[in-house]
Amino acid sequence: MAAFFETRLEFLKGVGTAKAALLAKYLDLHTFGDLIQFFPFRYEDRTKIYQIRELNPQLPYIQVQGTIRSMATVGAGEKKRLVIQLTDGTGTIELIWFRGINWVSKKLNPAGTYLVHGKPSVFGTQLSLTHPEFELADPQKSPKLYLQPVYNSSDALKSKFLDSKGIGQLQYNLLQLAFNHLQENLPQAIIEQFKLMPRALAFRNIHFPSNQITLKQASNRLKFEELFYIQLRLIKLKLARLDKLRGQIFSDTTLLNNFYHNHIPFTLTNAQKRVIKEAFTDLKSGKQMNRLLQGDVGSGKTMVAFICMLIVVSSRGQAAIMAPTEILANQHYIGLKDFTEALGLKMAILTGSSKTKARREIHEKLLSGDLQILVGTHALLEDVVQFKNLGLAIIDEQHRFGVAQRAKLWKKNEKFIPHVLVMTATPIPRTLAMTLYGDLEVSVIDELPSGRKPIKTVHRYEANRLRVFGFMREQIKLGRQIYIVYPLIEESEKMDFNNLMEGYDSISRAFPEYPLSIVHGKMKPADKDFEMQRFVKGETKIMVATTVIEVGVNVPNASVMIIENAERFGLAQLHQLRGRVGRGAEQSYCILITNYKISKESKERIQTMVRTNNGFEIADTDLKLRGPGDMMGTQQSGVLDLMIADLVTDGKILEAARDSAKSIIENDPELENRENQVIKQHIASLKKNTINWSRVS
Ligand code: ADP
Ligand code: MG
Repeated sequence: MAAFFETRLEFLKGVGTAKAALLAKYLDLHTFGDLIQFFPFRYEDRTKIYQIRELNPQLPYIQVQGTIRSMATVGAGEKKRLVIQLTDGTGTIELIWFRGINWVSKKLNPAGTYLVHGKPSVFGTQLSLTHPEFELADPQKSPKLYLQPVYNSSDALKSKFLDSKGIGQLQYNLLQLAFNHLQENLPQAIIEQFKLMPRALAFRNIHFPSNQITLKQASNRLKFEELFYIQLRLIKLKLARLDKLRGQIFSDTTLLNNFYHNHIPFTLTNAQKRVIKEAFTDLKSGKQMNRLLQGDVGSGKTMVAFICMLIVVSSRGQAAIMAPTEILANQHYIGLKDFTEALGLKMAILTGSSKTKARREIHEKLLSGDLQILVGTHALLEDVVQFKNLGLAIIDEQHRFGVAQRAKLWKKNEKFIPHVLVMTATPIPRTLAMTLYGDLEVSVIDELPSGRKPIKTVHRYEANRLRVFGFMREQIKLGRQIYIVYPLIEESEKMDFNNLMEGYDSISRAFPEYPLSIVHGKMKPADKDFEMQRFVKGETKIMVATTVIEVGVNVPNASVMIIENAERFGLAQLHQLRGRVGRGAEQSYCILITNYKISKESKERIQTMVRTNNGFEIADTDLKLRGPGDMMGTQQSGVLDLMIADLVTDGKILEAARDSAKSIIENDPELENRENQVIKQHIASLKKNTINWSRVS
């Protein structure tokens, strides 16, 4: 059966070797299967015939039917054109040709009735259609109404009659042959549950829909099918991993209860509680946890991480948390110290600047089990760092670490791979996470602790800098601290660096009374840390920096974030930077400074920032502006190379497809049931077609 779709295109009626070569070269279409999955990218609506008096220039492509009232060539030179008056009894419209005048005038029969298709436009008060398509109509019969598919083509193809119409003709020829070969590949129960159009009909209707409703049904069906098979594969991969990887069982809640009733300084948000429950279910399941925790900046991920550690430590496991910078590791250590002391737990911090003697002691105590919690940076990954029983490995700001680094942490327990929790404040839209991380469980903290004052964000032009300086002065007088961030995208870019330094100079001139800090990627780590610490301690009031401060630092007293050349930052980055303020009790501000001239897209990014503080809303806009491939970098974009589904708009279908795939695998992991044979056969046919299957691997 699958063999039919592997037939080379040259054997299709109307193709032949020359055209087959062109289709292969320009559209990467080689087989019947390729062609039938080459879907129209839009449709021209020919389901309605307008009356001429209904027309206006706001309408898209429309069709009218009428007779020719007059026909004349007017103008000369470039303005020479053929003008036809077409009337249908309700009004008259001009049909205009600048090119192909001879051909059109020969072809048109002045006595005929024509069905004409084009985009209405207006010159003065006269409505017209320029270069419309036309066909002779039979006034006795009502015309066939349909949607005209439009296929991508190219000049080279067009010159060989493979324009959109030509490709449509091939699709038509192919469908005649293929219809009976298009076997259903979804179980009947799913088709009924979601009222999906049968597969063969969906292929016919995606190419030749008779109206908008059948088109929608066809495209829903094919999108569902595409997403279903991707999800099925990801879920199978995940199960295979879970099956292989037993996890230690951590179910003791003694420490957790003690902490929760006696020491926790605030009430957990409902989102935090939910996520803790999700993780706890994993920790006591006997299977290894592999969970991504997404939560906007300031949503309280650290507390969730700590509570997970307590569950593990209660059952004599050890826990480690790795942060991308020394500052962050320090912050975690300081933040958790009071708690661990109150609970009688031993915790240590290990970073690049830990002294040899301290290191040695830490190494020993990790091995003996005397240390229960380790906080650190990459230093944690060194081979000498060995645990007695690492039960939980947590990675903060996971996007800052490479895959290899993460994997190294997993290997710190040879008997049982540790449970893994990776945390990120870079929100990924749900649809994207489901597609990319189908083999990870995803938890989301979608709520900020109550009482936070939303950060006020404004857009200012460079020309208003003096006003911004004035505002800064006011805020410093109120006792606050300020970040000013400059773009230094490639840390080697000379011009950026000069801008940063000029900025630093002008600020020191404007604020001679206040000490400043500066931090950028060219500084030695120790110097960076020194400057950062001065700011953390409040010794400096203004921090001039590049995006090196983007991740995680917590200076609650800093309440103003100023971003220079804001148009040059991506949305995710702007949001991340803004997250550095709004951590204390005071009202915080974010000021985005740009040039007068910025692109439409930059403007949209800035407006989004001004409009909302919600990281997921921002991520969604980002996805819409940039498209999913771009968002994740080229590496992963292969996964997103979808034929018909669209991650931006098809979230609902994706969720339905994923739920179906999940329940099928849960009930019938080996696909042995009779009703699931269609799935098994389809996978087998996909596997043969390596191009298709590699999309999702
Ligand atoms: P992030 O998710 O960005 O890592 P943190 O864990 O650093 O956020 O938390 C930000 C701040 O919010 C910290 O000072 C933390 O103590 C505080 N916090 C966390 N959870 C709550 C809560 N439920 N109620 C009040 N404050 C909280
Ligand atoms: Mg954090």
